[in-house]
Amino acid sequence: MIFKKQGRVQKSTGSWYSVSTDTEQIYQCRLKGVFRNKGIKTTNPIAVGDIVDIEIESSDNTGIITNIHPRTNYIIRKATKLSKSTHIIASNVEQVIIIVSLVQPRTSTGFIDRILATAEAYHIPTVIVFNKTDLYDENVLMQLHNLRSNYESIGYKTIQTSAITGDGLKNLKHILKDQISLLSGHSGVGKSAIINKIDPNLNLKTGQISDYHLKGMHTTTFATMFPLSFGGNVIDTPGIKEFGLVEFEKVALGQRFPEIRCLMKDCKFNNCVHLNEPGCAVIAAVKNGEIAEYRYENYLNMLNSI
Ligand code: GDP
Ligand code: ZN
Repeated sequence: MIFKKQGRVQKSTGSWYSVSTDTEQIYQCRLKGVFRNKGIKTTNPIAVGDIVDIEIESSDNTGIITNIHPRTNYIIRKATKLSKSTHIIASNVEQVIIIVSLVQPRTSTGFIDRILATAEAYHIPTVIVFNKTDLYDENVLMQLHNLRSNYESIGYKTIQTSAITGDGLKNLKHILKDQISLLSGHSGVGKSAIINKIDPNLNLKTGQISDYHLKGMHTTTFATMFPLSFGGNVIDTPGIKEFGLVEFEKVALGQRFPEIRCLMKDCKFNNCVHLNEPGCAVIAAVKNGEIAEYRYENYLNMLNSI
């Protein structure tokens, strides 16, 4: 007997995909051969987050993926540094959660802004979580206040948490509930600590897996989706430091900074990249403090890297 079901890809290990269905049953599936070459130009035809149709043999819990449903979005990166082909990290992402810390280790605003700009390119809402607040002294708390109010003023949601005191974890739980959230953040900022504290059924081992990865014992990076016991899913991406801005043009970069986006129509030249052009409304806004200097510097760094 063969029966058909729909499910979501939670994990991929080589040629096998773990697909969970609405009954929360997990099936190990493979791709139907013909489908593999159906004009998809990524190194992985199926990604974590994909909604797929599967055919299951009742004799065991294995199946065959026969169809992928259209993706609402997908996050890609270059397969390798020099390669032109892309790898889909995850699809159908509803929000990106950037977990950062201002101490031990300090996350740079450059990192935050690159992730924000990437999520903007995919039109995915992003939340910035400032963790380890129990370790912040007065000076760092002031920086936290300034950063939070600036990001909030541009339109990003921010919260502060501590895995040690439990501060803010209720807030984060509320944000994660019933959503598909892609987690991002440098190793050591406390991703696993806060997620495991929010849902003790989970056993995220982000830090450990990244260490394993750094030692070069594991050469493939991968993403895994974990269901939350209170509803929703988180996608963890151990070993993936950044998402690629694969298709990218200089004049489009400003679109990915909300505060630049809403001023650039006032620039004298419509192909202005806000570097040193006369009559640039963005440069004027940086000078009068309307746009934060660090945001503009991060914009320029990204512009230079294109
Ligand atoms: P990950 O690599 O982002 O998953 O980071 P981990 O969750 O493994 O945490 C890295 C280290 O930071 C561990 O030693 C944690 O105990 C510690 N840590 C995580 N969150 C906090 C926090 O809010 N406050 C303090 N003081 N330590 C934390
Ligand atoms: Zn300009």
